Amino acid sequence: LSKLGLSKAAELISHYVILKTIGKGSFSTVKLAIDLNTCKKVAIKMIEIKGIQGSERLKASVSREVELLKYINHPNIVGLLDTIDTPTHLCLVLEYVPGGELFDYVNDNYENSTEEESKHIFLQLVNIIEYLHENNIVHRDLKLENILIDSSSPDEPIIIKLTDFGLAKFINKSSPILTTRCGSEEYAAPELISGNPYDGRKTDVWSLGIILYALLVGYLPFNLEPGQSRRQFFSKIIRADFTFPDSQNEIDSRRSRISEEAKNLVHRILQNNPQRRLSLSDIKNHPWLNDVTI
Ligand code: ADP
Ligand code: MG
Repeated sequence: LSKLGLSKAAELISHYVILKTIGKGSFSTVKLAIDLNTCKKVAIKMIEIKGIQGSERLKASVSREVELLKYINHPNIVGLLDTIDTPTHLCLVLEYVPGGELFDYVNDNYENSTEEESKHIFLQLVNIIEYLHENNIVHRDLKLENILIDSSSPDEPIIIKLTDFGLAKFINKSSPILTTRCGSEEYAAPELISGNPYDGRKTDVWSLGIILYALLVGYLPFNLEPGQSRRQFFSKIIRADFTFPDSQNEIDSRRSRISEEAKNLVHRILQNNPQRRLSLSDIKNHPWLNDVTI
């Protein structure tokens, strides 16, 4: 440990030295750690089970996350390296992704980024979700916080990695309809908000539309505004009632005008009728995207 410049008091889990907390979710704390066998950085997602109400369900959901991550093999999806069970926690040892969340990236860099960059990020995301759906997996928690940035230098094109398979699920292709309502409301499709049975592939596509809007505009299309009731907020989602900022008033302080093709794509994804929502291959063939390759 002293070779690594660490005191003996450093916390050890198995052969990993815990350095600091790098993320928090609803049920987990994610720590940066060093693998003493390889001297490489890893991220350890720790889920507390001791004394937690409903811990049996939590354990079942963690083992599902582990099972899915073991099955998945994609360069833009966080890899599972190891699992550790302690008396108090279940731990997933994950490949460490150093660039932080897309959430912070959008908040901090929006005004300095370009539509080309949004396109590059979005196309990666579409390809990741296409891979998952082809493998009969729905993610169900697509949001800016669960997309990590893997690039080390600001001059390189951004590479993203998807994480958090805590709500993901294998679907049965012949009967893909699900009923468990889950995920963040801001990213939840109208049929989820209404409490209807839903096709998780269609609701993943809706969340992609929300993410695309955020990449283009710098904030989310549906947000519970101060003074707004939850009912009003839900009703906006159910009606797919969103607008783009008025370019005349807002363009000066923001990046250049959003192209009509990009707006058209968002409108065609954020369709409240899941039957009318674009499929992933329609999205890839949309004029805004089909002239690029990555
Ligand atoms: P939860 O299921 O509780 O939401 P997540 O898996 O989303 O947990 O992890 C919570 C946060 O921790 C993420 O939003 C991200 O900021 C950070 N994080 C998760 N995995 C990694 C990783 N492999 N590398 C770096 N940071 C990570
Ligand atoms: Mg998360």
